[in-house]
Amino acid sequence: MTPRVETLPIFRCDCGFGTVMARPYCPKCRGTLHPARAPAEGRILPWTILATTPEGFASPLGLAVVGLTAGMNAVARFDPEKPPAIRQNVRLAIRDGLRWIREA
Ligand SMILES: [Zn+2]
Repeated sequence: MTPRVETLPIFRCDCGFGTVMARPYCPKCRGTLHPARAPAEGRILPWTILATTPEGFASPLGLAVVGLTAGMNAVARFDPEKPPAIRQNVRLAIRDGLRWIREA
């Protein structure tokens, strides 16, 4: 039985460029970006824990850059009590409209 892989919303251009951020046009070819979905899995790149956070954000705040298997990077939150390991394989989930790291 294959485990169900959840997906994340992304934007793709016909030229192959992909991003998790909405943009007015493709930065590579100026083409149109189309909404798409990508597997919610990747590998931890750098991460940090912010002790001083902007107004409206709880402190401390764990933030990681995740290299998605679909080829683009995404910033995701994590529990600062359980920081991930660099290069750790992780899955992401959307909670309250934000990306969060789940256990691998
Ligand atoms: Zn393009």
